[in-house]
Amino acid sequence: VAGIVVLGAGQAGFQAAASLREAGFAGTLTLVGDETALPYQRPPLSKAYLAGKTEADGLALRPAAYLDAHRIAFRPGLVAEAIDRDGRRLLTAGGPIPYDHLVIATGARNRPLPVPGADLAGVHQLRGLADADALKTALEACRAAVVVGAGFIGLEFAAVAAARGVAVTVIELAERPMARAVSPETAAFFRNAHEASGVRFRFGAGLAAVEGRNGRVSGVVLADGTALAADLVLVGIGVLPNQEIAAQAGLGVGDGIRVDAFLATDDPAVSAIGDCARFPTRFAQGLAADGTVRIESVQNAIDQGRCLAARLTGRPAAYAAVPWFWSDQGPHKLQIAGLGAPGDAGVRRGTEAAFSVFRFRDGRLSAVESVNRAGDHMVARRLLAAGTSLTPEQAADPAFDLKALAV
Ligand code: FAD
Repeated sequence: VAGIVVLGAGQAGFQAAASLREAGFAGTLTLVGDETALPYQRPPLSKAYLAGKTEADGLALRPAAYLDAHRIAFRPGLVAEAIDRDGRRLLTAGGPIPYDHLVIATGARNRPLPVPGADLAGVHQLRGLADADALKTALEACRAAVVVGAGFIGLEFAAVAAARGVAVTVIELAERPMARAVSPETAAFFRNAHEASGVRFRFGAGLAAVEGRNGRVSGVVLADGTALAADLVLVGIGVLPNQEIAAQAGLGVGDGIRVDAFLATDDPAVSAIGDCARFPTRFAQGLAADGTVRIESVQNAIDQGRCLAARLTGRPAAYAAVPWFWSDQGPHKLQIAGLGAPGDAGVRRGTEAAFSVFRFRDGRLSAVESVNRAGDHMVARRLLAAGTSLTPEQAADPAFDLKALAV
């Protein structure tokens, strides 16, 4: 491969470019991204950055000098419009860029709020640095906030806002927070912790409309008619993969750009990684009928970037990394290894304040959620990587030596 173009300069795209150079790729390497900042980390946007504990310069994955030194031609602020697969060119607003191999790392975008009033001033979403800056400014004058969706980003925002003295109400269609992602035990812990910080929840609540005065949000109305006053609404109802450019080029998509175990699309000259990619993994067994998943996490973006760079420099290996994730909510740290599903059985280990839930699907360890218990998380990653299972009885037994099993 002589020339590689990476489309999308986020966590996955940057990693692929950096790992290609680290692996000795000597051809031309172009990194195209529609955002203007240097490639940056998103997790702090709903945590330390929002809370004013990290500055914008602290978010960049590497300084500009790194890109120069590694001959990564970074093209910020450039929107890719189409892929000309026959001509092997990425068509952009700034003209075509030829490639021998194209890496699609376009990430995901926030799901739009499908109710009247969603476009009022004061209704926010959080995905990029520009969103975070707008939200940070809005928080300064905010007294009452409504969060739509009790997922990770909504809850992280709720913790930061409540700590500033904002009255926060989280509305959620399901009966518990993070319902798709974590066990009822872990959800209950976080519900209690947020409530203890003053956050109020309304579960089983649908949003009917956002209301406003003079173009600015003044509150929301729930499906049951309840009205809640608010001067800020944060919408965190999940994301949609940025797959359209691949679909228009005739590549297979379906909640993500479809790739094989080596992260290649239907076209051997095009790969896809990160939030936009749907890939097969053994961790999806019993979770998805076709054995594929799309994962939104830093771990997945980094490990797929590395895996692809290895293949493109002559060391092909199927992608087999253990999925892991974290979320910081107020003083509490949640870490998840593996992929749980809503029906998985759960066994708890530890204390009230620091515990892990070991989850089992079809009798095998599927995921481990650790709350303020980083040691268990590291062991869980090793267990899942080795495919070592343990029994629910062993997991529940405080005397059982987990570390010894993971060696
Ligand atoms: P992205 O980082 O989204 O990068 C994709 C890039 O492609 C974007 O810059 C996008 O603008 C660009 N792009 C898209 N289409 C085009 C186009 N046509 N032309 C040019 N450029 C284009 N994960 C964790 O593991 N832990 C956390 O605690 C955590 N917290 C998070 C908090 C927030 C607020 C957010 C938003 C995400 C968080 N995540 C977290 C998720 C994590 O950040 C993502 O999984 C990761 O960024 C995915 O990397 P990516 O490169 O696939 O996508």
